[in-house]
Amino acid sequence: MESFPKLFIPGPTFVPNHVMQSLTSPQIGHRTAEFSELMSTVVSGIQKVLYTNNHVYLASHAATGLWEMGIQNSVKKGILHTVNGSFSSKWASVSKDCGHETGVLEYEWGKGVKADDVDAQLSSGKYDVFAMVHNETSTGVFSPLEPISELLKDKYPHIIWLVDAVSSMAGVKIETDNLGIDFLLSSTQKAWGLPAGFSVCAVSDRLIELSKSIPNKGYFLDINVYEKYYKKMQTPSTPSIPHLFGLKYVLEQIEEEGLENRWVRHIENAEYTRNWAKDRGQSLFPEEGFESPTITCIQNDMEWDINGINDQLLERGFRMDRGYGKLRGKAFRIAHMGNVMKEDLTEYLNNFDEVLNG
Ligand code: PLP
Repeated sequence: MESFPKLFIPGPTFVPNHVMQSLTSPQIGHRTAEFSELMSTVVSGIQKVLYTNNHVYLASHAATGLWEMGIQNSVKKGILHTVNGSFSSKWASVSKDCGHETGVLEYEWGKGVKADDVDAQLSSGKYDVFAMVHNETSTGVFSPLEPISELLKDKYPHIIWLVDAVSSMAGVKIETDNLGIDFLLSSTQKAWGLPAGFSVCAVSDRLIELSKSIPNKGYFLDINVYEKYYKKMQTPSTPSIPHLFGLKYVLEQIEEEGLENRWVRHIENAEYTRNWAKDRGQSLFPEEGFESPTITCIQNDMEWDINGINDQLLERGFRMDRGYGKLRGKAFRIAHMGNVMKEDLTEYLNNFDEVLNG
């Protein structure tokens, strides 16, 4: 088989052979009892990882489609987006493109979302939906959900809360039901550690109910259509069955590792990477207190030759990230989520050191 560099980019992330193998199960019909059994196993496994009883829908497309599902099934009056990086910015532009009254709470790249700022915007009364990105992949900024949850419960219980957890779900503890998240979404190529092209979301009962009263949602992303099939443990259209087998396998792996151990592993690997960077004279790009447990974004204070390092790491069989968009060369990211274990990370950072010490 052709060999490709081992991935330390923030998605798609590294998928070892034993996980890839799990996607090679024989095909099954998607309107059969065996499919419903498989889906039921996958759904209940995901519910455990997300600490939720909410319905979990499985979508055979990238998470970008779920951005639209969240918006199109919830907004009547207006939607407030926080924007602190590239993905949150794109999501806000999708709301505008869908024709919704869209407010934007904008932060400088590197900054985290603060409940007080959200409060100031929501108090205008212009919005019935609030959308945020939990872990801004472009900047490695992680915005804790707890303060936002407290704010919404306390002052805006009627607001529907949409959370993009694309690069945090399955790598960070998210207590969906305790937090009161109405729509939590992710795709499989980040901390789930599977190939791309598949996404999952957890949808609250009140959002399922609300969706019924919203016209012109189209068909493909209509929550009510998903719900109709969910009752039979099926998907509305033919799903990517290999991904379901992959999820089943990954969920078994997560069960074996233990949820708490998994969350701790991600935090420890993040701390290890942060210290590695600081010990070499670099600083972290995110503001203090908002550093991601799944991606470390390192500010290139030492002016390392990122392109040169990239070439040498590639020769050694590793794919590094050189910084997202406007950050290229100024800040770069190391992903440590999903299947990236401590030994993978040390192997990568040792190689990085050898290149640096050239
Ligand atoms: N949201 C975040 C935070 C992301 O990092 C990404 C992709 O990297 C997306 C959304 C889009 O995900 P997908 O490529 O699965 O549509």
